[in-house]
Amino acid sequence: MGKLSVIIPSYNEDKMICNISSVVSSLLSDENIPYEIIFINDGSKDNTWEEIGKACDKNPNIKGFNFSRNFGKEAAIFAGLTYAVGDCCAVIDCDLQHPPEVLVKMYQKWKEGYEVVEGVKASRGKESFLHKFAAKSFYSIISSATKIDMSKASDFKLLDRKAVDILRSMPEKHIFFRALSSWVGFKTTSIEFDVQEREAGDSKWSTISLIKYAITNITSFSTAPMQIVTFTGIIFGLFSIILGIHSIYINFIGKSSEGFTTVILLLLIIGSIIMLSLGIIGYYISKIYEETQNRPRFIVSECENYDELAYKKGT
Ligand code: UDP
Ligand code: MG
Repeated sequence: MGKLSVIIPSYNEDKMICNISSVVSSLLSDENIPYEIIFINDGSKDNTWEEIGKACDKNPNIKGFNFSRNFGKEAAIFAGLTYAVGDCCAVIDCDLQHPPEVLVKMYQKWKEGYEVVEGVKASRGKESFLHKFAAKSFYSIISSATKIDMSKASDFKLLDRKAVDILRSMPEKHIFFRALSSWVGFKTTSIEFDVQEREAGDSKWSTISLIKYAITNITSFSTAPMQIVTFTGIIFGLFSIILGIHSIYINFIGKSSEGFTTVILLLLIIGSIIMLSLGIIGYYISKIYEETQNRPRFIVSECENYDELAYKKGT
């Protein structure tokens, strides 16, 4: 029987740790699946790390890693993939919005020979109209960039050791887990699940953080924004040629051309497009800068039920 590593990124989830660890461990031991649970405490400000400690004391199959500060969910997932020793690794949210029973179904699919088992949202749960609309637009851009349908994708998935090792060997510091795990390919299948209500605590995503998340991930998978800028430049170039010919013609037939307002308007429009373009290019350059700094993706300060390290930084 292959061992399953369950990776649980946790940020301010002290009310959930005890709950999810007992649900997942009893579920997997009832099914006779060898497992380990890996909690990553992503710099929580509440008692999450203490709760993880208690869970680790009760069950030696539970391991805990404490980040030195909040590095974000993607970094937490990556740390989990780094320390997992299982033959396959599953990632699940701490808040029980991803039904743990699906883990068993994913594991069975893996046993059948699938190397990537995607959890696909059958419904998006309770979200406002605006949130759904924004999510839809974001995923349609990402889907066209990755050539993979991402509209119902989630971070809830199971990966074979092969895929995990490939992901770990990727040099990029910025990772977008749900797209990269599809991007690597391999024999893939999917399982639908219904997003549950959050059991306790609050969602960690504010509108601003969602917008930042969208911009960062679109630019990490696509150069479309720069292409759009070039295209806009071409359109404006053509437009100015037409306008130029038009004014020469008007002068030629003896009328003097008017239109002070038009000139100002055009200046404003062109100016703002240039600013926008510089901003977009600057954004890509800043990403190159961040990657070349080569800083670790995360820093672990403590761990529980894991011998090797007292202090470790992720590569
Ligand atoms: N999370 C994390 N680091 C963060 C934000 C979130 O590890 O900076 C974890 C969080 O504890 C949860 C998962 O990521 O296990 C999903 O977060 P949340 O439920 O807030 O997102 P939502 O379900 O609203 O998309
Ligand atoms: Mg959630």
